[in-house]
Amino acid sequence: MNFETVKKFLRKDNQPDYRVAQVRQAVFGRGVSYWAEATTLPEPLRQKLEELFPVLSFKPLQVLPSKKGDAFKAVLQLKDGFKIETVLMRPMRGHWSVCVSTQVGCAIGCAICATGKMKFARNLSAEEISDQALFWHQYVKRKNPEDRIAGVVFMGMGEPLLNYAAVVKAVGDISDPDYLGIGQRHISISTSGHAGNIQALAGDLPQVNLAVSLHSVEDEERDRLVPMNKKYPLDELKNAVEKYISRTGRQVFLEYAVIPGVNNLPKHTRMLGKWVREIKNCYLIHVNLIPYNNPEGKGRPDEEAARTFAAALTGMGMSATVRKSLGSDIKGACGQLAAGHSVRPRPAKPNC
Ligand code: SF4
Repeated sequence: MNFETVKKFLRKDNQPDYRVAQVRQAVFGRGVSYWAEATTLPEPLRQKLEELFPVLSFKPLQVLPSKKGDAFKAVLQLKDGFKIETVLMRPMRGHWSVCVSTQVGCAIGCAICATGKMKFARNLSAEEISDQALFWHQYVKRKNPEDRIAGVVFMGMGEPLLNYAAVVKAVGDISDPDYLGIGQRHISISTSGHAGNIQALAGDLPQVNLAVSLHSVEDEERDRLVPMNKKYPLDELKNAVEKYISRTGRQVFLEYAVIPGVNNLPKHTRMLGKWVREIKNCYLIHVNLIPYNNPEGKGRPDEEAARTFAAALTGMGMSATVRKSLGSDIKGACGQLAAGHSVRPRPAKPNC
């Protein structure tokens, strides 16, 4: 639902001026997901709106809460039957953060990611992306009107920079004051290292936070962990990050999943330190250590290993913290989204 288009329609339909405020209140204040629930509007108008501007571009199938109630995962069914997942997290009381998907499946195939085990099916439209934030906004408002969505991260299913145009449009919509009005500095885009579009991002969305999934600074190991490395090896990625920083002056976040015995030995700390220090203005690099979440949800993330690695990096004068992992019990943490499908849904049986 594009609010600007709805406003134009209301004017064209000769609706009184106060309808705009009523529609806004229904969708963003009360959080109605279907126009039929917008009881402040006259019935014929509700019907027209449902037909022309459905509030959401998908059907929510299931919402799974984590045991602590600080994370929720939703399974959404798109109009063509594909399913995607999106996550709501509460890093702070009353402030929620949304993790959105950008593709159905993913073509990159990272070794530490459940989405990577699925086949790539298609890109999401800008609307299907921004509606995930709207969906959670409405969910939060219905539960507690005082709570709000404070940030959006593009870290769900898919590689955002391979769906570049839709992602740029979705960021514009999410930050539009007439839509959700979430400031671009509170929006983060994560990439597995698409060096080409990191450059484009510096020009198109310089206010958005950039996170790069690094996980290793050895080309051979990174080829295996993050196959995007075969197209954009570490030197090219480093160059792109350096140019991004010099163009935007913004901090860049390097995501590093600490996989015990694989990439957390003392030599890895030294190599990572060297890699970061070779970047001009490397004081603008922050390393986020992620306790490794098994994509199948087996075992518990090893937070101690991540803390030890962070301490070694900060001991070398680098900026590094351990990222709080939320939602691993509902397979909603980093690298665990999979929506339980990997194939194109079967077309409905013809009615004959
Ligand atoms: S980590 Fe991101 S880029 Fe890699 S397979 Fe998973 S969704 Fe794709």
